[in-house]
This record gives sequence, C-alpha cells and structure tokens, in this order.
Amino acid sequence: MKKAMRTIVLFAITASFLTMSGAKDKVPAGESTGLRGPYLGQDPPGGDPKIFAPGVVSTPGNNEFCASFSPDGKEFYFNRGMTVMVCRLEKEGWTAPESAAFNGKYRNHESHLAFDNKRMFFGSSRPPQPYGIWLTERTADGWSEPKRMWDGMYATSSKNGDVYFGVEGPSGAGIVCTRLADGRYTEPVAQAVGFGDANPKSTSIFHPAIAPDESLIFFDDNNGLYVSFREGDGSWGEAVPLGEIHGEQKATIPSISPDGNYLFYASHDDVYWVSTSVLERIRCNGQWTVRAREKRAGADSLVLTVLYNNTSASDSVIADHGFSCLLEMGGHSYLFDAGRVPDKFMANVRGLGVDCSKVKKVIVSHIHDDHMGGIFELLASCVKPALYLPFSYPQSASEPHTDRSDSDYLALLKRLKPSVSKIIQRKDGGEIGEGIYTTGMIEDQSYEQALLVPTTKGLVVLTGCAHPGILEIVKRARELMRQDVYFVMGGFHLTSTDPARVKTIARELRTLTKYIGPCHCTGEKAEAIFKDVFKDDYVDIRAGMKIRLGEGPMTTSRTPCPHGP
Ligand SMILES: [Zn+2]
Ligand SMILES: [Zn+2]
Repeated sequence: MKKAMRTIVLFAITASFLTMSGAKDKVPAGESTGLRGPYLGQDPPGGDPKIFAPGVVSTPGNNEFCASFSPDGKEFYFNRGMTVMVCRLEKEGWTAPESAAFNGKYRNHESHLAFDNKRMFFGSSRPPQPYGIWLTERTADGWSEPKRMWDGMYATSSKNGDVYFGVEGPSGAGIVCTRLADGRYTEPVAQAVGFGDANPKSTSIFHPAIAPDESLIFFDDNNGLYVSFREGDGSWGEAVPLGEIHGEQKATIPSISPDGNYLFYASHDDVYWVSTSVLERIRCNGQWTVRAREKRAGADSLVLTVLYNNTSASDSVIADHGFSCLLEMGGHSYLFDAGRVPDKFMANVRGLGVDCSKVKKVIVSHIHDDHMGGIFELLASCVKPALYLPFSYPQSASEPHTDRSDSDYLALLKRLKPSVSKIIQRKDGGEIGEGIYTTGMIEDQSYEQALLVPTTKGLVVLTGCAHPGILEIVKRARELMRQDVYFVMGGFHLTSTDPARVKTIARELRTLTKYIGPCHCTGEKAEAIFKDVFKDDYVDIRAGMKIRLGEGPMTTSRTPCPHGP
C-alpha cells in the first residue's frame, strides 16, 4: 500500500482502539434521543464552525469523522472508529447512533449516501483486498449484499450521480471521477484538481467532497482542507486552503450537506460543521449558491452618497476636512465614517435627506477625528445600529496600535456602548452585512479597515484615509474577494507624498481598477495626477454627490438640496 493510503489506515486503527475504550452513549443505541428537527435538531452554525451534535455524535474518548446525511435529511451516517453509525429521524425524534446494518463483521468507514437515496458507498476491509470502495443498495428490508466497485477510498457523489473518489497514482494520491450513464459507471478519469501537474505542491490530495451541482470540490491533504471552484471552461481552479476557517486545529475528511448549505469535517476526533456561506468570502464571484448570486445582483443597485468631504458639490452642502459616505443597496443603508465637526456633519446628514432610522450598521474606518467626529450625534439619530470599529480599537488598557492614550479610548468605548446594539471588531476580512464586506486589518500595525461591495461589475472599495497604503488596500481587496476591482473611492492620504511616487501609485492603480474617486485627504495635487492618469474614468468626488453603478460608465449626480441653493 502506498503512502497516503497507509496514513489513513494507520489513523483508522488508532480510531478503533479509542472506540473500545471510549465512554458509553447516554441514550442506548437506536433509542430516541428526543432531538427533533433537521440536522439532529442542532442549532445551525454561521461562519464559525461548531462541533456537530456534541454528546450524541461527537463524544469524548471516541474518534468520530465522515458525516453523511441522506438526501431527505432523515438519516445521518458517520464513522465512530471503524464502524459506520446511523441515526434516524423517527416520530419521537432522532435515534441514538447504532451500527449500520451493512457493517457485518468487517471494519468499514467513510460511508456516503447518493442522491437517489438508494446507493450507499463505503470503504471496507471485506475480502478481496486491498481496501476498496463498496456499494450496497437499499432493499425492502435493509441493504443488499455489498459489491466491490473500485480500488480507492472515500466516494462522494453529485446530484446527477457522478462519483468522485480518492486513488493512489504513480505520482501520489489524487482524485478521480466516474460518471453514471445508463446505470453504469464510466472508467474513472483523473481530475486535475488541487495544485495541477505543473505545481506539484501536494502528493497527498484525498477525501473529495463534490458539491451537489459539481460547482466546487473540497478535499484534504496532509496540511488540511482545500476548495477548488469549477472554472468557466470546466477545469478546476487552483486550490484555496481553508485553514483560516478552522484556525489552528487541522481539519480533514470534508463532506457537504445535500442542500449544499453546510460543510462537515473532522478535527481532533470530532465532527464539525460550518455554513458554506464562508465560501463567499473566499470567492464572491463564484457560482457556489444562487443566494450569493442574487446578493451580488442586489449590490448593483448600490448608491453612494458623500456626506462629508473636503470639497462639496454646492454651497448648500458644507465642505470640511473629513469623510463620511452613505451606502444604500437592496433596501439596506450603511454609514461609513462620520465626518469631523458634529454640527457640520449633522447639517449635511439632514440636508441630504438621510433617514438615520434606516441605518442598521455604522462602520468606522479608523479612529481619527475627521472620521469619527459626528459619531455620537449620528448614533443618537439612529435606532441602536451595530457599530463596526477597526480591530485595533483597544478593548483593554494594554491594547496596542493606537496613537491616543488608552484611557481616552476606553472612555470613548464606554460612551458608545449605550447607543449601539453591539460593537464588532473584526481582525479578518469578511462579510459584515447583506453583501458588504470589510478588509479587516491589512497588517498587524494597521488600524484601518476599508469597505468592499462585490457587484456584478466588480468590486467597489471604500477607504477612509488609506493609512496602510491605497495600493495595499486594493490588492488586499482583490485577494480577499477574488474579484477584479471596479471603483475605488475615499481618502488616499497623499498630500505630502512626492508627486513622482503619486504618479507611480496612480499608474499601478490604473491596472487594478476601472474607476477611481480620490477625495478627502488625497490632496489637490495628487488628485490632479490621478485625473491625468485615469482621464474619463476619474470620478470627481464632492460632498453632496450621489454615485450610482448605472448602466455603462459610472454615473454621478448632484443631490438636489431640499433647502434650496
Ligand atoms: Zn482622514
Ligand atoms: Zn486618518
């Protein structure tokens, strides 16, 4: 047996030992646990993984892995050691795990029930050896005599019956696919999944989990979980490591719920699950869910209203050093930054007809006066919105990365708390609202976050002062969202930067974004350089302007002022 296979079998032997010495279930096998509802009545996870059904499925002292729900959601199969266990949803609720009937006297694992709810694939130590993938089918009173199908391990199947599984090849372990045509499986074909022939970073790719619609595939190697998205030409995109989802602990043996909503995997002898919405942060322009597509289309209605800026579009709108912008899309309103002088800020907010009661989320790019000056007056006009502060905003007196005294900050935090529903500080980039994302911290020393809105035209990037560097922010945005940038707007902090350097930055940005809207602390001279480089794609940003992602080129308009000129 070759390398990857050996690793897995070794793992399995350890597992079965743990089963024998493990603790007993509280409810006897096969009897009702009283758990009702989908997914064993568990509270579904969001973007943070949870242990699946602790005490029932994931138990101390036992090694549980490989989760598989029947397509009707009424059966749940998993491995406890080298025994495939099953839980059933009955009238009284879910039954406690018991050994699946097809185990027989053999050691079996990695069961997967196909979408026809009949074919059950599993690995088995049944003769003949070597260890292979077996198939049993549902009969009137149980399961048919298992039939050996292929050399390999861990079968997974798509909605149309195609089966993907792991095999040992001459150059290491990899994934193959056999298609179901007229009730027969075609010769398995190697999948160029993972790192590609030209980039043999891994020779231990194994445990595939194909999405119901085959739009993506999860797998693992010795370093943890990965995902590859199906590209437009049918090929598999480069593997994206999913390490950040689970943090420090290594994750392995992925599977997908039949509805495509949850990723299950094993780590530290327990089964975990997490919402597949985490993938949106990995690739927002992918084809993972209809929901994600709809969300992006919704973002195309995005309207940006500049509430505070160093220049203004008309005399009725106050111009002052600082920044604030209202984002409206799909019926949601978000406020990014809050100007400098409270009275001036609130005059513009009212003058531009902003309905603060609709603002459910307020995001602060960074804790400088010109971005936070009007925050208390703003929050007083809103109905307890959620407040997103940069991660480095101190939570304790010892918090670093600030340029003000800690006691000032702590006092500020204390004052903010009563006016908001919650304060959120994200270190990592990710979704913070319906189709709106933050870059999180750009690097350890950064104390600023930028806002990202993926649209079908590309990414919209909003910056406060761009203290970490506008190029770094735009590059980070592309990397984080895996989407090209369409429009970058905000302060670029270039007033005292050498014009030659500004030109270099503008030229590089020209290759990274279609439209550009430098304002606030960018500086007049730098703005002129950007205008020269971007020509017609330069958007002149002033307080009182609305920017829409209209048909064709970006359109801007001056907001009519309710108080006259
Ligand atoms: Zn600023
Ligand atoms: Zn600043």
